[in-house]
Amino acid sequence: MQLTIYILIVIAAFVLMEGVAWFVHKYVMHGFLWNLHEDHHVPKGSHQHSFFEKKRLVFCHIRYTINDLLYFR
Ligand SMILES: [Zn+2]
Repeated sequence: MQLTIYILIVIAAFVLMEGVAWFVHKYVMHGFLWNLHEDHHVPKGSHQHSFFEKKRLVFCHIRYTINDLLYFR
């Protein structure tokens, strides 16, 4: 019985996080953060594509914010 609960938790977490990722991509990254996300859709090999994509700044910001929240809790 306990194994079934663990398996359901894993499946629920997967489905939930996929939903969150879809929502954030569609409504946040293609919304008010489009300036940071635009170069992610530039095809690789084109002259506009660069190794560093601006979208990585978002995750750096989230990471440092979480670090600060954990430090000051
Ligand atoms: Zn996108």
